[in-house]
Amino acid sequence: MSDLGTGTVIGLEVHVRLATVTKLFCGCPAVFGASPNSRVCPMCLGLPGALPTLNGDAVRLAVRAALALGYRVERTSEFVRKQYFYPDLPKGYQITQYAHPLARQGSLRVPDAAGGRRVPLRRLQLEEDAGKSVHDQLESSSLLDFNRCGLPLIEIVTEPVLRSPSEARAFLVRLRQVLERYARVSDCRMEEGELRADANISLVDSGGVTRAGRVEVKNLNSFAHVERALAVEERRLAARVAEGHAPGAETRLYDAEARKTRALRGKEEVLDYRYMPEPDLPPLRIDEASLRAAADGLPPAPAEVERRLIEHHGLSPQEAARIANTPGRAAYLEATVADGGLPLARTASGLVLGQLAAERKRRGLESEADLLPPAALRRLAQLRLDGRLSARTAARALELLFRLREPSPSDVDELVASRQLTQVAEPAELERWIRQALAAHPGEVERYRAGEERLLGYFMGEVMRASSGRADPRAATLLLRALLRSAEG
Ligand code: ADP
Ligand code: MG
Ligand code: ZN
Repeated sequence: MSDLGTGTVIGLEVHVRLATVTKLFCGCPAVFGASPNSRVCPMCLGLPGALPTLNGDAVRLAVRAALALGYRVERTSEFVRKQYFYPDLPKGYQITQYAHPLARQGSLRVPDAAGGRRVPLRRLQLEEDAGKSVHDQLESSSLLDFNRCGLPLIEIVTEPVLRSPSEARAFLVRLRQVLERYARVSDCRMEEGELRADANISLVDSGGVTRAGRVEVKNLNSFAHVERALAVEERRLAARVAEGHAPGAETRLYDAEARKTRALRGKEEVLDYRYMPEPDLPPLRIDEASLRAAADGLPPAPAEVERRLIEHHGLSPQEAARIANTPGRAAYLEATVADGGLPLARTASGLVLGQLAAERKRRGLESEADLLPPAALRRLAQLRLDGRLSARTAARALELLFRLREPSPSDVDELVASRQLTQVAEPAELERWIRQALAAHPGEVERYRAGEERLLGYFMGEVMRASSGRADPRAATLLLRALLRSAEG
């Protein structure tokens, strides 16, 4: 055995269903869960003489996805027939792209401990989906559902640069965030097969020389399956190498229940797809106007939004990631804070991620902005920051504000005044609450005076209770100490 270290190399091929109303080359509705073979026509069934008509909306969404992932969109791309026999492919070929894909050279930044890594993307192509074989309904035969035939997909291919199963997962999580929430080109429902990945893995020594592989695990349709299947393969390949074998390239399937992979075919059996140009479709040309239309309203990438939240607004990387979860939430925070400075940004971010997020979820709303206009949140955060509201009274104020329609900053002020929510630092009033708390607990006062100083926190709790949360904590603590001491003699 050589003592060179072993490294893992992973590359992904990801298929994502575009959120169109109809299929890619015919007018059949693109719906999930319709009764089997009810959403089909001569075109998607591959009947002789049927001709494809390219769905312009699918092209727009594919271009939008490419732009969101920083690809160079090709002015001209071409469709080909990829020929193979499989029961769920009634035409006998898939219309896809090959030598001239829709886009090349994209990239996606994936978060990691060191602040993020750029994963280069090779190509993005537009293609149709195949039908579905159903094996678990009848004892001795399989069923076919052609509803999925012809649904529009994009295929995204990474360079082989991912270094661990968890990084592959992080890549897919980020990819889904960009496509579903930022670009909004797909619903990315993985349980419905709208985002699925083929994962390629090989082992290399520290000089980059291949020691095992490349193994391709096909058709993984959850983040957990991708990570587990790759971990299983990584261990299996490493064990083979340790035994002195150099396992060859093959295609495998993952059995999620057994948490094992099994061989589907070896390298010798690599399929010959006999690619040929699709004679019934002209080259696909993308002009300036369609590029502009596809880019309409596209937000910046989440990595960029996170960077701005960290560098410009002073959030921690964890806070920034949670705020940038959706572009709408990030825009809401930025509209709230404007140029209010770092402390205001952090205070507002705490409110957005805490009480506002909880209430949004409870009401099933899409955005925190639907609960409270930015100007009102800004006023509240400012009062909290100035110490006029305590954590508790700010929470109470929010609760009351959620009941109003579109409250303004002056509504916030009015409510805080009319409900007496401001913190009180005024000594006479504080003294009244403190004396009330001490009088109610003479035993504890004795113990404090006998040296049990940690009871201070207990008294503070009582003072807060007496003041309904309005006592200014710092001023109250000082006065509490002084009163406990002064009465000692
Ligand atoms: P093929 O033409 O056989 O499909 P590609 O070169 O197009 O192979 O690569 C397909 C996928 O396999 C890509 O995602 C790529 O990153 C990945 N890949 C290529 N070589 C390796 C390797 N040595 N180890 C892991 N993944 C790889
Ligand atoms: Mg391939
Ligand atoms: Zn059809």
